[in-house]
Amino acid sequence: MATVLTSDAVLPLTCTRAGTCCHGKAVWVTPWEAVRLAEALGVGPERLFRERTDGGIRLRFDGTDRWRGQPACALYDPATGCRAHGGRPLACRLYPLGRRHDGTTAVILHEGTVFPCLDGCPSVADLPRMTVADYLRDQGTGPWETAQDRTRELAADLAEAAFAVVVDSGLLRARGRAVVKGWGAVGRESPAARAAVLGPWFAPLIMPRLGADPADPAAWIAAHHQDLQHRLQDAFARLADPAALAEAGLACLRMAVHLGQACGGDAEALARTWARRAESLAG
Ligand code: SF4
Ligand code: SF4
Repeated sequence: MATVLTSDAVLPLTCTRAGTCCHGKAVWVTPWEAVRLAEALGVGPERLFRERTDGGIRLRFDGTDRWRGQPACALYDPATGCRAHGGRPLACRLYPLGRRHDGTTAVILHEGTVFPCLDGCPSVADLPRMTVADYLRDQGTGPWETAQDRTRELAADLAEAAFAVVVDSGLLRARGRAVVKGWGAVGRESPAARAAVLGPWFAPLIMPRLGADPADPAAWIAAHHQDLQHRLQDAFARLADPAALAEAGLACLRMAVHLGQACGGDAEALARTWARRAESLAG
């Protein structure tokens, strides 16, 4: 159950800065967000991925500080708050709000029918209220929203690449549903397990080395898109062996699910949807 909000809705959105919402949450990060986080922390992306994330797409909540028994985010400092405030991801900029995108339009909402901050920070009710539009402006969500939308498009394109590999090659028609048997299960893999199985595709997918400027999310993600397309072309365009083609399709699908989950998508639902579409094409 969620409450969808209009941009002129007035809510108690002035934060108490108590940091309660930096505990016990699931914060997903796209590759572009991870670059911005690493910049703000002053560490390289590899170190961020290794020490602070699961599978490169979810921040670890393994800090020593606890609130109601729930551990803090790996980037939370009990004395000063977020160690990467300037580069914090979209989920943190939006909280207590959220953003749902149905493929064409995005809506702003909050979970449940009761305003979330009232539970952890009841004194928020005594602070100045503001409109949703003003809050989003204050939080500077614009570039982060652009990044999430472009990354979601990239994930969808990787799923199309998976279809291209198994459909355009004639493999699905020749071998049937067995070719895409493992697709649905990809959504049930944990981020860390999926990252491990991605093997050589993990680095170009999650920590690409691009010449583009991360200050421009659209340009950076376009460069990421292009880099992945070239790599896929080089690796898969000349494959002919059925087993290798099936593996290539699964690798593309796994990349699509991983990136879709990095955007906050439901990995199981994404994998299931794409697997069903492939099965229907197999007849
Ligand atoms: S729960 Fe709300 S008021 Fe409390 S720290 Fe988080 S955003 Fe601020
Ligand atoms: S990234 Fe920063 S703002 Fe977000 S949960 Fe972690 S400590 Fe809190």
